[in-house]
Amino acid sequence: MSKSNVSVSLAVDAERLWRRHMDLAKIGATAKGGVNRQALTPEEARARVQLRDWAEARGFSTAIDAIGNLFFRREGTDPDAAPVVTGSHIDSQPTGGKFDGAFGVLAGLEVLEAVEDAGIVTKRPLEFVAWMNEEGGRFQPATMGSAVYAGKADFEEMLDVVDADGVKVRDALPDAIAATPGAAPRELGAPMAAYIEAHIEQGPLLEMAEKTVGVVTGIQGARWFAVEVLGEEAHAGTTPNAARKDALKAALAMINEMQALMEDPTDTLRFTIGRLEVSPGSPNTVPGRVFFTVDFRHPDLAVFTDKGDRISEICRRNAHGLPVTVKETYHVPPITFHEDVVGRVREAVNSLGYAHMDIISGALHDAKYMNDICPSAMIFVPCERGLSHNELENAAKDDLAAGTRVLAEALVALANA
Ligand SMILES: [Zn+2]
Repeated sequence: MSKSNVSVSLAVDAERLWRRHMDLAKIGATAKGGVNRQALTPEEARARVQLRDWAEARGFSTAIDAIGNLFFRREGTDPDAAPVVTGSHIDSQPTGGKFDGAFGVLAGLEVLEAVEDAGIVTKRPLEFVAWMNEEGGRFQPATMGSAVYAGKADFEEMLDVVDADGVKVRDALPDAIAATPGAAPRELGAPMAAYIEAHIEQGPLLEMAEKTVGVVTGIQGARWFAVEVLGEEAHAGTTPNAARKDALKAALAMINEMQALMEDPTDTLRFTIGRLEVSPGSPNTVPGRVFFTVDFRHPDLAVFTDKGDRISEICRRNAHGLPVTVKETYHVPPITFHEDVVGRVREAVNSLGYAHMDIISGALHDAKYMNDICPSAMIFVPCERGLSHNELENAAKDDLAAGTRVLAEALVALANA
């Protein structure tokens, strides 16, 4: 009865996959061709309904967990086996694109449909999931749904998170859950056999290297710091240098030494001062306070730890005797995806013959948290000029289909392993 030797990738339908992207993008569409479908909004709820309609039309079942992660399932032959799962997110940035997140979810739907069309039998169930609030634009932190699922964020604490208008997750979540009435309850943390997430790269490396598929081996780590230097406001015309407590002069010395430390000839390291506030911000007053942020990222744990730890030391050394506080506000170490699952992706891309390369994700994804609970990996496809979190975000129909074929082969292999 098993037709597992039929190649599932032959049943992946590039046109159907593209059409689904265009149809989903109508929900929350913006004038500039992007989408505004932020987490737990009416637009996101409509996208949930659309996914449910597509999935149930093919006989896949729907389940939802307490934080609003939405699962669709095609059964396997072994009723006790944990599912092999794929997915991503359908929430967007306020000025987001048609592909960020949507691709991973719709690729999951396409895989299940292709498996169905090819009549392939798998031992394990196959599922695709739309994680709740991956973007973190409305409610922080990002990747909220997957973090709660994996037990890495506290459920009750997340319910109390408030958006800019004072609306709590707790208040907005019931409407999202009510969008799919009849969905079976899914337990948070329910086991998975493996997880693979497909995503647009959101950077230019694949396009620059003219590769169709990125075999993602890990996600770089990120550390954020908030630095405050306190000086003393004084008259810019009358105060001698020796008497000044210039907070900006000290901050610039700190930033210059950090820039030197973070220079990287391999262009792997990412270092950004994204916010610099000078107070009181008057042309003829010596700055009495400077606040700035540091965003530092690296895929290698040793560099991540060593250079990251030196940031506060550099701030203290360059404070010129002024009080300085350095707060680390975010700390997510780099992760390496599971060899077995990355290996399945590599096998699939080799057998399909697509131009590919290994790549490390510069952005955080839900796969980070899945990697904590089951062997995980990711697949990237190129996006035009590497542009993402932008309404002009674009990807090629053939590249989306290629990534989905790789995903399909890898998932079916895992579901029969
Ligand atoms: Zn995304």
